[in-house]
Amino acid sequence: MSKAYQVIIVGAGPAGIFAALKLASCGVTGVLLLEAGPELARRSCPARERHIPCVRCELCHLTSGWGGAGAYSDGKLTLSTEVGGHLPEIVGEDRARELIAQVDALWRQFGDTGPIHGLPSDEVEAWQKKAALAGLRLLLSPVRHVGTEQIRQLLGSMQQHLAENGVEIRTQCPVEDVIVSDGRLLGVRTERGEELEGQFVVLAPGRAGANWLQAVATRLGLRLTRNPVDVGVRVELPAVVLQPLTDVLYEPKLVYYSSRFDDKVRTFCVCPYGEVVTERAAGVTTVNGHSYASHKTDNTNFAVLVSKHFTEPFDDPIAYGQSIARLANLLGNGVLVQRLGDLEQGRRSTPERLARGIVTPTLREATPGDLGLVLPYRYLVNILEMLHAMDELVPGVCSRHTLLYGVEVKFYSSRLYLRPTLETDIPNLFAAGDGAGVTRGLAQACASGLLVGKEIAERLT
Ligand SMILES: Cc1cc2nc3c(=O)[nH]c(=O)nc-3n(C[C@H](O)[C@H](O)[C@H](O)COP(=O)(O)OP(=O)(O)OC[C@H]3O[C@@H](n4cnc5c(N)ncnc54)[C@H](O)[C@@H]3O)c2cc1C
Repeated sequence: MSKAYQVIIVGAGPAGIFAALKLASCGVTGVLLLEAGPELARRSCPARERHIPCVRCELCHLTSGWGGAGAYSDGKLTLSTEVGGHLPEIVGEDRARELIAQVDALWRQFGDTGPIHGLPSDEVEAWQKKAALAGLRLLLSPVRHVGTEQIRQLLGSMQQHLAENGVEIRTQCPVEDVIVSDGRLLGVRTERGEELEGQFVVLAPGRAGANWLQAVATRLGLRLTRNPVDVGVRVELPAVVLQPLTDVLYEPKLVYYSSRFDDKVRTFCVCPYGEVVTERAAGVTTVNGHSYASHKTDNTNFAVLVSKHFTEPFDDPIAYGQSIARLANLLGNGVLVQRLGDLEQGRRSTPERLARGIVTPTLREATPGDLGLVLPYRYLVNILEMLHAMDELVPGVCSRHTLLYGVEVKFYSSRLYLRPTLETDIPNLFAAGDGAGVTRGLAQACASGLLVGKEIAERLT
């Protein structure tokens, strides 16, 4: 085995970077950070930059490279423990809250991080009451909006800081395997065949590396549990419709239990003045949303998602979500778009009908079609019920011109069984972030990295 390191971190997304920042701030030396993708400056997503359909690069630069998925994220740091992952279940509510506060402070050390929206106020309380009258729960969830452009700058500054503080960083260096002998952690093997010795290893490969991590975990005999899959649509409407709410909360998180099925339906990733984008995940094309600090559209978009757990005999939520997305891809050669009025009247949208609408789609490549041919009845009913409840809260949501893009799917990685320190069943082998199924967003991913970094630093010193 070549050179021995005290700590090897796999994945330079927010979780891996924050683990490294913590280790460096505690004076731990001999830290190596390995990243499969390229440097930040060399990352380039043709679909995002040229507004063209996803060209399916061999390595997706949207999710891989310095900064991980965080570098192309919307830069919304959710400062509440209610959303964004399972960390509170694993480490306890108080500890999770403390860690998220530390994460927020650490981002601010690296530059301007933008304002916080949705702090408790009389106005927010009034919206919560109005939501309750419409059968909705409005979660109090302050969000700091850093913005996509600014978050890249901050991630760049973090890389410079780590390099200046002795952390060795290797990009374009995918890790192939974790080396364990007789239950003892020895280090990692890279795809180039180099075997690197490490006293501690942190696995933070994000969603891009979730399948890889699952395979490694299975080989090492680590326990895994399944997370549910969330399937739904991305809704786009004139920004003025949601403005009374988004001006106060920026990212209103609404939860609804459908009267027909008692299923949980929720809004996700509200993008005021943003645009709808395509995303390539798990071999299918799905939709997502974005808003930029410097560039605004006339529309606001948000996802309405239905969460489903499967029990037996079927227990493959990822395959279920893939199948629904594949059907939309088959009918629309990518993503479908439909006016809500057309869906409710049982007819497809056509280019002519879309042109007569008052909402100009920000995702031009979406094919006008019929989501009724794609989404299972249960999902359609749940989504329509949720939209009508929202329309009571904010009139205009259920305009016939409102656009629905389909489908949006959130694939969550299988969850590794981890101790409250995020250590696996193998001593000194830790896991953090979205890839381990522990988190689902920036703030909790960073928090999981901080937690692991602190634990390792304490053991080493
Ligand atoms: C388009 C988009 C927008 C988003 N917007 C937001 C938002 O506004 N707010 C929010 O809270 N969350 C957002 N998210 C989610 C957020 O980006 C993720 O939750 C967060 O980045 C997870 O951090 P992570 O470190 O766990 O994983 P990642 O950020 O995915 O990073 C993991 C890194 O590990 C690398 N890797 C994988 N396997 C290996 C291997 N074998 N060897 C070496 N390296 C490997 C990958 O290349 C990647 O760079 C968004 C995600 C996307 C895709």
